[in-house]
Amino acid sequence: MKELKDFADDINRCSKCGLCQSVCPVYKITGNDCAVSRGKFVMLEGVLKGDLKLGKNIEKYLDMCLKCEKCKNFCPSGIDVCEIFNIAKYQYAKDTFRGKFIKFLESKAVFGNFMNLMKKIHSTGRDGKFSARTKSAHPVKLLYFKGCVNNIFPKVEKDLKKIFEKLDVELIEKDFDCCGLPFLSGGNYERFEEVKQHNLALLDCEFDYILTDCASCESTLKSYFKPDEAPKFINAAEFLSTQNLKIKFNKPVKVTFHKPCHLESADFLTGLLNRCENISYIEMKDFDECCGFAGEFALKNPQISAEIAKNKAKNIIDTGADYVLTTCPACVAGILEGYTALGVLHKNPPKVKNIIEFLAKADEIILE
Ligand code: SF4
Ligand code: SF4
Repeated sequence: MKELKDFADDINRCSKCGLCQSVCPVYKITGNDCAVSRGKFVMLEGVLKGDLKLGKNIEKYLDMCLKCEKCKNFCPSGIDVCEIFNIAKYQYAKDTFRGKFIKFLESKAVFGNFMNLMKKIHSTGRDGKFSARTKSAHPVKLLYFKGCVNNIFPKVEKDLKKIFEKLDVELIEKDFDCCGLPFLSGGNYERFEEVKQHNLALLDCEFDYILTDCASCESTLKSYFKPDEAPKFINAAEFLSTQNLKIKFNKPVKVTFHKPCHLESADFLTGLLNRCENISYIEMKDFDECCGFAGEFALKNPQISAEIAKNKAKNIIDTGADYVLTTCPACVAGILEGYTALGVLHKNPPKVKNIIEFLAKADEIILE
């Protein structure tokens, strides 16, 4: 297992230029340098030199991070900030009572069995190889990685299958575990490694793409591999944009789109919306700005999270759209948090949907 000292060179590469301040959603709200990468690296440098103790006070600032990677993508020194923060959290939390208790909750015996129970309750009865209506001898083989949220709220999974049944695809299902993101961002590396090895072993089959319905799952799965060794991934909405589909809505609908931080690119959106009839798209201001949720970030920093979510909610409402679409269940929660913080939840704000769930509401979907 790596330790903080293994990242000494990366931490020293931070030139303290401060450019990360201009993109960090937490810094924009708090104005606190300890909340952004630069400040965190100053503290971690102090830890490595032995001047500071890796304790509660530093952990508080390590937790003040959405793991949105906006600073990583902007940093001139190209430092993988989130990995360093996660390792520092792991190093601090592993021996604390709270750290041990969280590990117990996230263990296979507790979290794993809870998910297995949810899977059984919400099973679609199609585990194994689910053949959609095949129209050729060589359907596209899609290995479907359904995120954990589908085990509890299976609507997106059901809607995805409803649409994909119409395509020339073979949807392959395996008993995947969680992608591991909650464990990784909480610093529970042992558990992350456990689910990673479980999931990697299940990739031992023939497929063209790993199909995902959640941007965060996809980005975590990609992190299992070196960039040049990764299999091909595609999110469900992007795949639909490549298909010769006509998606008909009888009545006009206005939509806007929130780009999750972990979605690499939203370039597929135009192509997908062009396949829809009666849909008009209104781009919201800062459509790629974080929703402020980020799982445990919202629990540990409720006020900052609510402020970020409020800005997102305002931008959504300003579009006057009927629906705001996205590709990550955590963002759905973040937008609802924003509506609540803004006090508009009861005022009929734009409905929040995963884009797949929205498309499944179409009056007709035709493969041409
Ligand atoms: S942008 Fe990168 S190099 Fe500059 S202060 Fe932030 S983390 Fe350090
Ligand atoms: S990952 Fe996001 S929230 Fe965390 S320090 Fe970087 S920009 Fe700020």
